[in-house]
Amino acid sequence: MRTTIPGGWMAVVGWLVVAVGVLGAEPGKGVRIDADYPSGNIVVQRIDGDTAFVAPDQRDTQKGQWWFYWSFRLRGTAGQSANVVFTGKNPIGVRGPAMSEDSGVTWRWLGASAVKSAQIDGKPTWSFAAVVPKDAVDVRYAFCPPYNQSHLQAFLEGHQQSSSPRVEELCRSRKGRAVELIRAGQLDTAKAQGIVLLTSRHHCCETMATYAMEGFLAAVLADDELGRRWRERWQVIAIPFIDKDGVEDGDQGKYRDPHDHNRDYNEKPIYPETAALMKLGVGIKGRVAAMLDLHCPHIRGEWNDRVYIVGAEPPAVWEGQLAFARTLERVQTGPLVFRAKDCLAFGTAWNTAANTTAGRSAAQWGREAFPEARLITTIEIAYADALGKEVNAESARALGRDLARAVAEQLAK
Ligand SMILES: [Zn+2]
Repeated sequence: MRTTIPGGWMAVVGWLVVAVGVLGAEPGKGVRIDADYPSGNIVVQRIDGDTAFVAPDQRDTQKGQWWFYWSFRLRGTAGQSANVVFTGKNPIGVRGPAMSEDSGVTWRWLGASAVKSAQIDGKPTWSFAAVVPKDAVDVRYAFCPPYNQSHLQAFLEGHQQSSSPRVEELCRSRKGRAVELIRAGQLDTAKAQGIVLLTSRHHCCETMATYAMEGFLAAVLADDELGRRWRERWQVIAIPFIDKDGVEDGDQGKYRDPHDHNRDYNEKPIYPETAALMKLGVGIKGRVAAMLDLHCPHIRGEWNDRVYIVGAEPPAVWEGQLAFARTLERVQTGPLVFRAKDCLAFGTAWNTAANTTAGRSAAQWGREAFPEARLITTIEIAYADALGKEVNAESARALGRDLARAVAEQLAK
């Protein structure tokens, strides 16, 4: 159901509030801004001539928290444009907005120089020019390149060869969506030396983590020495979208009310995905050799500008993380350079006990559920820039391949 409020720019779709902006003097002939597609997220606050004042939609976020994910579509005729303005906190990353001219399949960063800052009505603003490209009827802009079910589908369709991954269903989401569980590597569990568990999107906006996971899976499926080693020895169980509804609906996911998926590994989990994963964990207890939970950090600044490992409190787990970090530094070949010193020790910066008072994280659960595992870690992957190197779909995938090589090396020791 959709109700258009007179004035033309606010629509209500079911329980979602989706803002739709129409810019231009003549109603119906101007460009339109909306987020009515998988992973879309925008609130159009007001329209002033060819300027749209917009904000990230925080609909799922705890009160008092702010997060920065947004993704909108601009529709019109080729060459039509809008001045898009964010007010207050800056939700544009360090390489500017991401842009897609093919309806969200591929993305590129516009660059920091595309963003202008100014004071409007006494408030700080950040803006950029959104333009419908030549020979097109729409263009998408987003905080970061989205990765949702359609991207996973395309990846799986591209890997239909003999070593193809096996797609199962972890569970159904609250909204009835299938939550994919992908097995790859040694699919005969009895023959596998162990299981390597991969997860991403405990925070649904953290898209670059899933591009990295895709690269990891591609390495496991590849027709080369590393791929064959994986398929001989280890079974990968990957859950790309722990918060499946958030991924498809375009939520923030971080600080989801009342707590987010990465604080849900408690006695009584409230999300079906975490409950299902915990149940799965009981069945594979003793078989899990490694667990990597992939995330993206905050928007900018120290520890948000690199790939890093989040240090665990127990000394034995921390030792395993440091050993893995040294291996990853040694074997990596991709453009995103990981440094072994980029391990955030427990008790440092945000990584303290106070961070998980809202509930147990996936990594904390993994340490208890899989005491024999050689490596249990959270890995943070910067959204746009890692120590001066551009983070994009391709470089994140290359990082994933590096992670696959490092895990294989580590487990062989
Ligand atoms: Zn996260």
